[in-house]
Amino acid sequence: MELFDVTIVGGGPAGLYSAFYSGLRNMKTKIIEVQSVLGGKVNTYPEKVLWDVGGLPPIKAQLFVQNLINQANAFLPTICLNTKVEQVKKQGGIFVIITESGEVHYSKTIIVAVGGGILSPIKLDIKGAETYEITNLHYTILGLECFRNKKVLVSGGGNGAIDWAVELLSVAKEVVVIYRKEQLNAHESQVEKLKEHGAQIILNAELQTLVSNENKTDIEQVIISQNGENNQIQVDEVLICHGYNREVSLTFSDDIQPLRKSDYYLVGQGQCKTSVPGIFGAGDIISYDDKVGLLIGTFQDAVLAVNNAKMYIDPQADPYAMVSSHNDKFKEKNKALFKEVHFNA
Ligand SMILES: Cc1cc2nc3c(=O)[nH]c(=O)nc-3n(C[C@H](O)[C@H](O)[C@H](O)COP(=O)(O)OP(=O)(O)OC[C@H]3O[C@@H](n4cnc5c(N)ncnc54)[C@H](O)[C@@H]3O)c2cc1C
Repeated sequence: MELFDVTIVGGGPAGLYSAFYSGLRNMKTKIIEVQSVLGGKVNTYPEKVLWDVGGLPPIKAQLFVQNLINQANAFLPTICLNTKVEQVKKQGGIFVIITESGEVHYSKTIIVAVGGGILSPIKLDIKGAETYEITNLHYTILGLECFRNKKVLVSGGGNGAIDWAVELLSVAKEVVVIYRKEQLNAHESQVEKLKEHGAQIILNAELQTLVSNENKTDIEQVIISQNGENNQIQVDEVLICHGYNREVSLTFSDDIQPLRKSDYYLVGQGQCKTSVPGIFGAGDIISYDDKVGLLIGTFQDAVLAVNNAKMYIDPQADPYAMVSSHNDKFKEKNKALFKEVHFNA
């Protein structure tokens, strides 16, 4: 039985930064991630440019994720991908983590960093729609280039849809947004940008039918219904942003049920503790007053969760780690960095 000091469930930003920080605090660390890649939700918007992470110039989300992964690897945590944690139990003072495939992992503490559960996009409820998923029906954008000079229809009016519609303005020939309600339900400034750049916005409208090209490979037209009338629109690409289905991601045995805010979120008890000693939360999963539900907020959560996990294992431990500029853990790494030409440039 290999026992870890901390097992982090979820390899998104909160989990990755927790892994870095627990390495910094000399804890034997494991990350368990259900997907085949690390990065969490950020992988759903790889082409978006992040402006709001302190100290970083505007950066594409995919590069940001790579940086996070590199940082998480600084202290070589054990990483298990394609592994879904199903249940956590406690036996003899040790947490026992059981995965979907029946593997068992052992840990002194757990940091739950599973975001808001396992998300999958709500698919179009139109017969045969799935056949176009390999061509021009999309549920997210993995690369903007495929939309260059195309006429793109975006279905949805929330922040997800409108953020993408705004990004598309820079490459697409034409952007058409259709939404079933009377008003778009997204940040005002983004809606303004859409309007300023002349995107067509069709409200009170829903997709009815996808009309294929002659070869039956691509969607060529869509039929939308608006106020009881049907209209056809010629399209090159269709992006559906109708939100996500959520699956409660992991369960706890009855004797260690952390207080939940709903099916999906854990109630924070201060310092990213949950109501169960030894189980901590970081990132979107943990809810508390004044929560910052942003990437930068996940980092603060990670630090608190790790420091408290450290003190759970060793109550005499320092409540804080030494800052990186004075921390001996970085001496050798710094020497290596200073030998690199680009580092001194
Ligand atoms: C479209 C969009 C744009 C955004 N833009 C910004 C922005 O510009 N700036 C900003 O600061 N924030 C932004 N955010 C918010 C930011 O992405 C989230 O706050 C952040 O990803 C939360 O990180 P997390 O690690 O808590 O959760 P997640 O990123 O959701 O990661 C959770 C991870 O846990 C894994 N997991 C779940 N259940 C299990 C299980 N049972 N077993 C194993 N693994 C599991 C998931 O697969 C996932 O990898 C945006 C969010 C979205 C959706």
